Amino acid sequence: MQLNLQTSVIVVGGGPVGLGLAATLGQAGIPCLLLERSVELSAIPKGQNLTGRSLEHFYYWDCADELRAARLLPPGFPIGGITAYGSLAGEYWYAPPGRETVSRFYYQQHERLPQYLTESVLRTRVAALDSVVTLFGWSAADVGVDDDGVRVTALDASGARCEITGAYVVGCDGARSMVREQAGITCTGSDFDQRMVLAVFRSRDLDTRLGRFPPRTTYRVLHPELEGYWWFFGRVDPAETWFFHAPVPKDATAANLDVHSLIERAAGFPLACTFQHVGFWDLRVDIADSYQRGRAFLAGDAAHSHPPYGAYGLNTGLEDAVNLGWKLAAVLQKWGELALLGSYTAERRPIFVETGAAIIDGIASDRAFLARYNPDRDRGEFEHAWSGRTSGETAPPSYEPHYEGSPIVWGPAGSRSSVHGHHTVEARAGHHLAPVPLSSGRNVFEELGRGYTLIALTGDRRPVAAFRTAAAALGIPLRVIVDTFAAERAAYGSRLILVRPDQHAAWTGNDLPADPATVLRRVVGGATDLAGGATELSALRHGLGLETNDLTSEPDKGQGGRGGQ
Ligand SMILES: Cc1cc2nc3c(=O)[nH]c(=O)nc-3n(C[C@H](O)[C@H](O)[C@H](O)COP(=O)(O)OP(=O)(O)OC[C@H]3O[C@@H](n4cnc5c(N)ncnc54)[C@H](O)[C@@H]3O)c2cc1C
Repeated sequence: MQLNLQTSVIVVGGGPVGLGLAATLGQAGIPCLLLERSVELSAIPKGQNLTGRSLEHFYYWDCADELRAARLLPPGFPIGGITAYGSLAGEYWYAPPGRETVSRFYYQQHERLPQYLTESVLRTRVAALDSVVTLFGWSAADVGVDDDGVRVTALDASGARCEITGAYVVGCDGARSMVREQAGITCTGSDFDQRMVLAVFRSRDLDTRLGRFPPRTTYRVLHPELEGYWWFFGRVDPAETWFFHAPVPKDATAANLDVHSLIERAAGFPLACTFQHVGFWDLRVDIADSYQRGRAFLAGDAAHSHPPYGAYGLNTGLEDAVNLGWKLAAVLQKWGELALLGSYTAERRPIFVETGAAIIDGIASDRAFLARYNPDRDRGEFEHAWSGRTSGETAPPSYEPHYEGSPIVWGPAGSRSSVHGHHTVEARAGHHLAPVPLSSGRNVFEELGRGYTLIALTGDRRPVAAFRTAAAALGIPLRVIVDTFAAERAAYGSRLILVRPDQHAAWTGNDLPADPATVLRRVVGGATDLAGGATELSALRHGLGLETNDLTSEPDKGQGGRGGQ
């Protein structure tokens, strides 16, 4: 049997990132086809900590309530960690503040649930979107990309074959991405030559013994022998199910590793446990050298992978999906220029380069600390250093990914995109917009459009009229929110804020700019200089033939945001 299908975007891989991309495209009305080789969801909890920012994506995918309803922990259970020295029974420990320190800068609260439940919610959401076709149980076997389009051959378990053609293909197919390989995209990484075990187990004893700590969801043990790697316990449900990961010898296997003893050693006390899963992975930090080659893109673990230190993997991947999703939709709906697609790598890759570096630095810094300080050698010196470490970790996190250096935002001259920043309500070009109440009582996030939004906090009506006229002439969907520069809105510091479909400010000002059309052209990729992308873009331009491309959907010129739907 052979099927022949045609679509606009082929998404290879229906893990959380592929599903998130399909949701973004589907809600924009873009035809897309998602291929996922597994019918069943994996039983391994994996990425559980979702940031407030990730929850904003679920809000705009119209399934944040469903996600919260799917969690296993009771509402209000404190999401955060304990760091202990030596073992969980050790004398030295602290509870660093969690994501609540930045929660007021996001419209949604962070959440914790097993990744398979997150995927289940997304599968249900995507199934309800008319423009998304899903093929579960089908593996992409071959990917062809040329100037005119893409072609993917998929096979199911019975050997049936499906030929799919489209305008773009996105590899969301995980760390061993075949799309990345077949598109010829190379990776650069650091191999730590370190094998890790991942165990999922049930134990009531562990919960009982952890009653000595304030309630938390994760428990990290630092030990001199681990050289900066961790023994790590995470709750899957309130009291019984856990996952554990730890460095192990290179030749460890499920047959020769005594995981139970290792867990007891990390815990520091004997405990009964029943195992549900024991697996292994090699610790690497890897990044694709580009997230795009012609009409092929990468997102999520296919583009970058690293050990689960810091809960960055899934959250970073979901942001990739949203960033790429709105840009593909804009280009296919013909209000975005092709250079908009080049801005995907330009914006997202620097974020992971620095995230990966921070993870490597964190391991090195723990290793140095543990080599230098040891209570068995010098208790006083260790206690002094440990307390310094504790207070260091109470500082507000400076992890604030932004695109100040992006070619499609009007950031400060000479700035660059980075994860290093600070959280503030002030609206800054390239940064995530902070949520504030409007005078209607609704939050600004309830009013943002799915295209661009102009927030006008000025009594002057001319900027609104001028931006509307320019957007209409350029075919850019623009929603306008008019309010006063008062109350919490004054903290934005700007009376005019142009917000992207991914809730990042693209331009800010106080007065009508000389030419609003110039402002708008840049933010849809019409006036960019993407170094190194010129050849790729001209090849794309030559091959794309957007005017004759019958795979695209019609532009959405509506002003409707989520609040209006
Ligand atoms: C122990 C552990 C804990 C973690 N904790 C966190 C955390 O707290 N927070 C966080 O943000 N991240 C965490 N992560 C990382 C997170 O799990 C990953 O970043 C996330 O799974 C990436 O999602 P993805 O969709 O990109 O890739 P994947 O989840 O790997 O999904 C890829 C999908 O593609 C499918 N596929 C592959 N090849 C093909 C093909 N040829 N055809 C069709 N389908 C294909 C696969 O079946 C799979 O479903 C953790 C990871 C581990 C291992």
